[in-house]
Amino acid sequence: MSKPKRPVLFEVTRKPHHKTKSEQRLHYRLLGRVYAILRDEDWQVRYCRLCDNPKLRRKLELEDEVIGTVDYETQIIYIDFRYDVLSTVVHECLHIIVTDRFGSGKAQYEAEEKEVRRLEKLMMEYMTRTQATRLHHLISARLMERKM
Ligand SMILES: [Zn+2]
Repeated sequence: MSKPKRPVLFEVTRKPHHKTKSEQRLHYRLLGRVYAILRDEDWQVRYCRLCDNPKLRRKLELEDEVIGTVDYETQIIYIDFRYDVLSTVVHECLHIIVTDRFGSGKAQYEAEEKEVRRLEKLMMEYMTRTQATRLHHLISARLMERKM
């Protein structure tokens, strides 16, 4: 006799990702560059409530739904801590890494955003627990506690 089944309220499902050697290599290469940014003391990470900080959003010229951004002038990576910090930091670091390949302008920005999203998804798929742990430690070391 089979065990009575508990009712399933909801499940989180994900499609299995078919891993390839070339994507794996790309992930490692990009991860090395993300580590390098976070080891660079010129860069800082600042946690904030981006979505409900109109003053900051105006200053950085951001749209309403933004949860992370890079200020290249001050070299501050702003992260809305109420969302997934790890993937948002990876996303913003990828902007820093690929931005030179794209020009300024709306079309170029959209192309950059599309490429960054693709790479972010890939990196989060290939990231190991050791790499995620290292990333968290590096983010912690770059976090600004006070307004400067
Ligand atoms: Zn972006």
